Amino acid sequence: MRKQIAAANWKMNCTYQQGEKLLDDILKADLKPALHHEVIFAVPFPYLIMAKSLVSDESSFNISAQNCHHKKSGAYTGEVAGEMLHSIGIKYCLVGHSERREYFQETSQQLAEKIDILLENHITPIFCCGEPLPVRESNNQNTHVEAQIKESLFHLSADTMLNIVIAYEPIWAIGTGKTASTAQAQEMHAHIRSVLTAKYGSEVAEQISILYGGSVKPSNAVEIFGSKDVDGGLVGGASLVAADFIDIIKALK
Ligand code: PEP
Repeated sequence: MRKQIAAANWKMNCTYQQGEKLLDDILKADLKPALHHEVIFAVPFPYLIMAKSLVSDESSFNISAQNCHHKKSGAYTGEVAGEMLHSIGIKYCLVGHSERREYFQETSQQLAEKIDILLENHITPIFCCGEPLPVRESNNQNTHVEAQIKESLFHLSADTMLNIVIAYEPIWAIGTGKTASTAQAQEMHAHIRSVLTAKYGSEVAEQISILYGGSVKPSNAVEIFGSKDVDGGLVGGASLVAADFIDIIKALK
């Protein structure tokens, strides 16, 4: 079975102490996820080491960065390099979250460079894609998401592609309380898998975890995650409440 993932995206929330308590409260639930489950916390840079040390005894729990710079190293004041994340043992990093594409004008080319830097540093990119509302309203979401995937991922070989996690996040559903319907999510996930199949073959496409993101909460997680091509979720708001994220982890199939 493909890896089923519950990934928390804390964004720019929580003080150090609040983050520590949140993680502690989730770990205290003693969840014991199945072998094909993985729980990931994408935390702000200053908390990476603390979070990594808190989950160090849990085999299915991992820590992710929320971003890295697209250049290897150098005179980029305030930025964080892939090799820095590698040097502290980080295994995942979000790439191309819609907030970064929008507020920091990240381009597909830069995202492709980030993907390469991360893979060189043995870090699994969680590649985010998704359409804004006007694109959905004009029914062009499939073309939009397909282009995002082609532009930033299709330079990879089939072997390398196996080290990518994809998160489909319709922008109109992020932080809005509005969730894609289960049918809309499944339809897009199946489309993404068909795009991957056309390029890399079904053996590769069937192994890639595709997460859904956009107002996932305990009340909708079981149904959304239950869809055939949905392999868990990338969760913003609900990941900041321990009880909610615990229920979302329990919703993994
Ligand atoms: C996100 O930021 O990746 C996200 C899906 O946020 P929310 O769950 O709050 O919609």
